[in-house]
Amino acid sequence: MARVGILTCSNATQDLGCSSVSCLADFRKRKGTFAEYPENEKLTLVGIINCPGCPTLTGPVKLLQRIRALTEFKVDAIHFTYCMKALCPFKEKYKNALEEAFPKIKIVVGTHEEHVTPEEYRERVKKLFCQARKTMVDVILDKD
Ligand code: SF4
Repeated sequence: MARVGILTCSNATQDLGCSSVSCLADFRKRKGTFAEYPENEKLTLVGIINCPGCPTLTGPVKLLQRIRALTEFKVDAIHFTYCMKALCPFKEKYKNALEEAFPKIKIVVGTHEEHVTPEEYRERVKKLFCQARKTMVDVILDKD
């Protein structure tokens, strides 16, 4: 049996509203990177946690604290989500830091299958970030 944890990108979950539905669907169907486990090996999803946000000055320190939400519960592998794989400029640094800190845990970059090319995916996500949207500022300024 393999006990799996998933690390998601907080830009995708907190800002863009992803519920990790595609990652979880392919976990259940054993597609994408979950197809790499032997067919007869049972997979257990131990937990999902989003990264603590882009690291600015802290490097991987904040992530090493946050990942305890998975590492304290006997995970064999931690998968970085597809959005981390396609979007996160820090993924290699994070992978190295986690491998060094938790040598018994396998770090896998990716979850669900690719539905579009990474370039197309990045372009679509960029459009989402850049779309005009109302905020509390508009409520505050709306005096009518
Ligand atoms: S550090 Fe990477 S995974 Fe975390 S919010 Fe930033 S881009 Fe997403």
